Amino acid sequence: MKTSELVEFERVGKVYQVGDSEVHALAEVSISIGVGDFISVIGPSGSGKSTFMNLCGCLDTPSEGRVMIDGVDVAGMTDDELAALRNQKLGFVFQQFNLLPRTTSLDNVALPLLYAGVKRRDRHHKAMEVLNLVGLSDRTDHHPAQLSGGQQQRVAIARALVNDPVLLLADEPTGALDTRTSAEIMMLFQQLNDKGISIVLVTHEQDIASAARRRLTFRDGRVIEDKPIEQLRFLQPDRSVKIA
Ligand code: ADP
Repeated sequence: MKTSELVEFERVGKVYQVGDSEVHALAEVSISIGVGDFISVIGPSGSGKSTFMNLCGCLDTPSEGRVMIDGVDVAGMTDDELAALRNQKLGFVFQQFNLLPRTTSLDNVALPLLYAGVKRRDRHHKAMEVLNLVGLSDRTDHHPAQLSGGQQQRVAIARALVNDPVLLLADEPTGALDTRTSAEIMMLFQQLNDKGISIVLVTHEQDIASAARRRLTFRDGRVIEDKPIEQLRFLQPDRSVKIA
């Protein structure tokens, strides 16, 4: 395998057993996600997007084919091994920001490092660094309730970045935000991607999907289109803000 590939799906299928019948959530999915990619995943409800993300995120294993994450085959890994892979290599961002309410931005962001056994001083240093990266260095002592939705999502993105993941997985990250704030968050993803961070983002909105560099379209558990996006939305090449 080429070392520049972070995720490889080889003819991946996922079958769920529901009572007596089988649900084919994914079928014959073969794709590669490379270093520096920014991919949006789009498709109607039930088309397999979440199943695909769960496999990328080591939350599940395939029923058919092979999934490699940063060169590691997930087949046969125990739940603990999958959790370790997740913690070390992946960052997750969700629609609901999932921040601890009575905890400052700094401590919310530093939390994964606490679990990883990093010393307090180093935790705070690193948390400051990523809060700065998402443009929130002046909100480190605020609690989530003192922040706007967009700011809370920035804290959540900083938390996802604090372990230096190889890949950021975002599941409908703008789903709870208004149009303008969604555009700002997408610009932040674009800026992070410009810095070399690889991103896979699920959305059901075409506009949001068009902020990525590549778009995967799912239907009935299959990738029906895998296409580069030439005209990037939101942040134009001259870096002027263009909100659709
Ligand atoms: P999407 O995220 O695009 O809405 P999903 O990946 O959630 O699609 O679902 C794909 C298909 O697999 C759907 O038909 C869904 O009902 C089915 N499915 C997903 N998860 C499960 C599960 N845990 N058990 C049974 N069927 C499932």
